Order: sequence, then structure tokens, then C-alpha cells
Amino acid sequence: IIPFEQLINLATFSTASSPAPELIRDFAIIAHVDHGKTTLMDRLLAHCGHSSAQERFMDSNALEKERGITISSKYTSYLYGKYTLNAVDTPGHADFGGEVERILGMVDGAVLLVDANEGPLQQTKFVVEKALKAGIRPLVVLNKVDRQGATQERCGEVESNIFDLFAQMGATEEQLDFQVLYASAREGWATTSYPVNGKPEGASVAPLLDAIVQHVPPPAGDTAAPFAMLVAMVEHDAFLGPIATGRVAAGTARVGDHVRVLHHTGAPGEEGRLTKIWKRSGLGRLELNTAGAGDIVSVTGAGTARIADTVGSPDLEEALAPGVIEPPTLS
Ligand code: GDP
Repeated sequence: IIPFEQLINLATFSTASSPAPELIRDFAIIAHVDHGKTTLMDRLLAHCGHSSAQERFMDSNALEKERGITISSKYTSYLYGKYTLNAVDTPGHADFGGEVERILGMVDGAVLLVDANEGPLQQTKFVVEKALKAGIRPLVVLNKVDRQGATQERCGEVESNIFDLFAQMGATEEQLDFQVLYASAREGWATTSYPVNGKPEGASVAPLLDAIVQHVPPPAGDTAAPFAMLVAMVEHDAFLGPIATGRVAAGTARVGDHVRVLHHTGAPGEEGRLTKIWKRSGLGRLELNTAGAGDIVSVTGAGTARIADTVGSPDLEEALAPGVIEPPTLS
């Protein structure tokens, strides 16, 4: 049974458009496998009113109606107060080099989650290097602080390991001046200072959500510019054709708008017409009428768009003059 408030919430959201860029935070989550990424994401979603059981149910209902469309589970979106937080999962493996770069290209910040007992490991290092190169200032979260080994002393050691790692990788002064939070994803809390007396009274994950809002810069896109979306992922749907997902780099797109695909190879792209726009909402998805700069969305109707292509308004080529919109980088 879906609570009434939840239905209202979804109903209002479904006629929605993207929020203004200053109310959006796009960030990646970086962690070595087993350091607690899934557990933490679940806690953040739950805090923002998204419960997995309900939303999977909602989505499977909608899915039936719309013939089995699934949009990427590699990112999620949730409302925290007036802010829309778009969280993108980052693969930790070197085989996904190109994908990591594309993901880091559509975010302005990162949460670096490190098991306080184990410290930074191989997969963390690989992605951290790319994040630092992309100019991102990671927010560091030491997880599993509930465990006995994660003493204040140990956390201090791990923090200096992370500092050294950043320094070796050529981090700037600003990147070296990272904020640290202490968390137990399992128990569902995060704090900005080491919890010397164990689990803090009434603790929640709100301090981490607040830190994300404060620390991750809002996206820079101009909503009045011609529409351009850099395609980071493509899925195929038997009924609707390719579903392209990425961040709107600039402008605003409406369902029904004519678009053109600019292939990253330079090959001339076809024109299309946007048939649907969605974004994630918790573990489900929501249809949008318009998508604006800074938001991470999925679209259909841009026929031949492939990974690293740009989907944009037909007059985009002019706007692609150097310095106006960054051309997509090849992996
Ligand atoms: P992922 O691979 O990074 O997504 O990690 P998971 O979220 O699946 O967590 C890996 C394991 O660590 C699971 O058994 C979790 O229950 C456990 N775990 C995650 N967070 C914590 C934590 O804060 N404290 C403790 N003690 N265990 C945790």
C-alpha cells in the first residue's frame, strides 16, 4: 500500500520540469567495492523519503503501462529540502576508464567513501586520480566508524593516507583541503567530527546531505542557451528505440522539440524529435515535460545518438563555437 503523501508527491513531480541549476547538485560516488556504497545510498534515499519496496512497486506498474522501459540504474535523484541531488554511480574498475571519465564530466563534485578500517584501496585510487584531474574536489566520508577498529587514531591515519594519495596525484591546494565526515552507513548516520562517544544521539545522514549541498558546486549551465546534452549512457528499448542519458550541458528541451545529433566522430547527425524525457526519482523514474541545464535526464527520439555524442537543438552547431559549450571528449 502506497501512503497518500507519496502519491501526491509523485503526481506533482511527474508534470515537472528540471529545477533551476542553482538548486541542483550533480555528484559522483566513488568507493572501493564493499566499502559501503550501496548501504549508504539506501540510507540517503530513505532519509529523503524514498523506500525501495514502494518504489520498485510503482515503477513496475508504470513499466507495464509503458512496455518495459528501464532507464539507467547508474544514477538516482532525490529531493533534499529545496535541492535536487543527482547521484551518479562510478565504476571502480580500470576496464571502465572511458565511462568513468564521461561520468566525471557530468558532475561537479564527488563523495569519496572509504572504509575507515581498510583505508583507500586500488579501485578508489583509480577513480580519485581521474576525479582530481577533472578538477573535482571530493568530499571524504570515512565509513564503518561503528566498527571497533575505526578508532579516532585510525581515522586520523586514514585521513593522512588520503591526503598523501591526493598529493601524489597532483591535487591542488583546494583539493587537498578536503572536508571529512565520519559515518556508519549500516547504522544510518554521519557526523562532521569524530564521534568519540560512539553513535551520536539522534544522529542521521542529514549532516552528509548538508555537506553535499554546501560542498558540491551547482551546475554552470545556461538555461536560455541552445539545448545541448552530452550522452553518457545509451540503453535500447524494443518499443521506443535508444534511450540516451546524460547531463543537459545547456539550454532547455521540451517533449516534441526537434533535435539534432552531433556525433563525436564528426559524422553528420540526423534530426529527431524528442518523444519522452525522464529522470530518476529515488529508485523509480518520472516523466518530465522539460529538461533544463544542469539536470541529468534520459531522452528518447534522438535516434542515432551514441555514447559521447551530443543531442542538441538544430541550431546548436553555431553555438558549438569554441568556448561556448565544451565538445564531448573521446575516451
Ligand atoms: P558496496 O560494495 O560498496 O556497495 O558495499 P555494501 O553497501 O554492499 O556493503 C558491503 C558490506 O559492508 C555489507 O555487508 C554491509 O552490510 C557492510 N557495511 C556497509 N556499511 C557499513 C557500516 O557502516 N558499518 C559496518 N559495520 N558494516 C557496513
